[in-house]
Amino acid sequence: MNIHEYQAKALLRSYGAPVSDGRIVLSANAAKAAASEMDGPLWVVKAQIHAGGRGKGSFIEADAGAAGGVRLARSVDEAEKEAKAMLGRTLVTKQTGPAGKLVNRIYIEDGSGIEKEFYLAILVDRQTSRISFVASTEGGMDIEEVAEATPEKILSFSVDPATGYQGFHGRRIAFSLGLKGAQIKQCVKLMGQLYKAFVEKDMEMLEINPLIITDGGDLKVLDAKIGFDGNAVYRHADIAELRDTTEEDARELEASKYDLNYIALDGEIGCMVNGAGLAMATMDIIKLYGAEPANFLDVGGGATKEKVTEAFKIITSDPQVKGILVNIFGGIMRCDVIADGVVSAVKEVGLSVPLVVRLEGTNVDEGKRIITESGLNVIAADNLRDGAEKIVAAVKAL
Ligand code: ADP
Ligand code: MG
Repeated sequence: MNIHEYQAKALLRSYGAPVSDGRIVLSANAAKAAASEMDGPLWVVKAQIHAGGRGKGSFIEADAGAAGGVRLARSVDEAEKEAKAMLGRTLVTKQTGPAGKLVNRIYIEDGSGIEKEFYLAILVDRQTSRISFVASTEGGMDIEEVAEATPEKILSFSVDPATGYQGFHGRRIAFSLGLKGAQIKQCVKLMGQLYKAFVEKDMEMLEINPLIITDGGDLKVLDAKIGFDGNAVYRHADIAELRDTTEEDARELEASKYDLNYIALDGEIGCMVNGAGLAMATMDIIKLYGAEPANFLDVGGGATKEKVTEAFKIITSDPQVKGILVNIFGGIMRCDVIADGVVSAVKEVGLSVPLVVRLEGTNVDEGKRIITESGLNVIAADNLRDGAEKIVAAVKAL
């Protein structure tokens, strides 16, 4: 689960981290009022969307102006003007995809004089199964590009969970960033605060890009991006409250209501599969036969007819879907339940694209009988390869 920059900063502030004064607003009027509560002389007007790269992004609408989603203002009126230009407009960044994201919230922040910009992240390193720090002098940059072109500029190490965070971890980062004097102490303290927040709140990723040295010589968190482990959010009512569902994919949101493992993708073939492994294999084989999956969907083991119906409805509601492949290997899942769900969903919402069904396993004959007797226009398949070949052929023939 992701949250907005302003929420991340409020959370980090509660752990003592140095962040600027700021106010979240929903209108240009409120932006003006918020700016006048701060001293100036520099304000920063920041679009709040769940994506990075806002500063270098651009708006789809011409009347939003040529600047990106992070704008400097030298007066209260200018802050109002920039907020007005961004609100209700669509911001496209490297991370949003070409469709962009609608800006509903603006963060008005006290402007900082910047001496240096660094990159800092804490994440769960899957290779070592430990929490790792990543730091670089190349702040404000795309860290993937830095990793590609100048990997020696990135410091990365993991923390032993038996000892947790220690002062030497912070000093290691401070020295790699070339910090001096009091900054080293600030760094050791800040890294400890960030690490504590990371562990206590079950974060998956915490990225500060940039972490800066201000013109006054102090360390400051200038941007903050946090992702939480979705499976642990139930343990944190305060974090669950920060969820902004308008930032989420509508179909993924709907699927989460029914406890379905659904992830939207860019392709044209909708997939309904049981089991994450089979779902991955299904996506792979669709690609092998020259098409792209429109989604990942694992209906799970003990899905009910209602759940299967909802899953099918979610797939058909995607206008990108040009064909559907149902691929079930019934172990715990019964083929007749899948068949019932598919038939009832089609009765409700209709079916305008080719449907290939491959059923195997528990109650397979009953499942096939239900599909045949329903009179649905279904292409039957015998195995995974057959199913993939048939759906790709059917979609290409359209
Ligand atoms: P994003 O990563 O989405 O582009 P950032 O918050 O990192 O957004 O802002 C982009 C750039 O804007 C920063 O690298 C920094 O140079 C500048 N910036 C952001 N916030 C402030 C601020 N409060 N004061 C001064 N400059 C800022
Ligand atoms: Mg940033």
